[in-house]
Amino acid sequence: MSTAKKPEPKSYDETISEKGFRFTEQRRAVYDALMGKRDHPTAVEVFMRVKSRMPSISLATVYNCLETLTDCGLVKAVNHDREPSRYCPNLADHAHLFCEGCNGVVDVPLRSRRRLEDVWEVPEAVVISHHEVSFRGLCQKCAANEKKSSNKEKK
Ligand SMILES: [Zn+2]
Ligand SMILES: [Zn+2]
Repeated sequence: MSTAKKPEPKSYDETISEKGFRFTEQRRAVYDALMGKRDHPTAVEVFMRVKSRMPSISLATVYNCLETLTDCGLVKAVNHDREPSRYCPNLADHAHLFCEGCNGVVDVPLRSRRRLEDVWEVPEAVVISHHEVSFRGLCQKCAANEKKSSNKEKK
């Protein structure tokens, strides 16, 4: 007799094969690079990271892998102004803070147990297919530096 198992959260492998894609070493390496350092790298930055472990990989392959991972919903492409897309593996609802000091991107999570509908007055009968909320300003590091240098100026 088999006991019913609790459904486990979907792994990378399951998600990717469910979508009809083949699991490849390259896709895994690209995904691991994104999960390893969640600083919203561009495709070129991902390429540099993967290349250090997998010297044979090409930039074109990295672009393809990122596209597949985005299509599968494992990764989100983050676009800002006309800058190259960056990639984010955080699939929880969150906004992005674009730092004007260091050009970094920081995740801004929704408060726990809040939904977007609780925050925004979405007009009735409107259908939202996609949302992207962004902030501009200074990240914690840059804000701290700014404070330091403005204190110096006062003296
Ligand atoms: Zn910054
Ligand atoms: Zn993010």
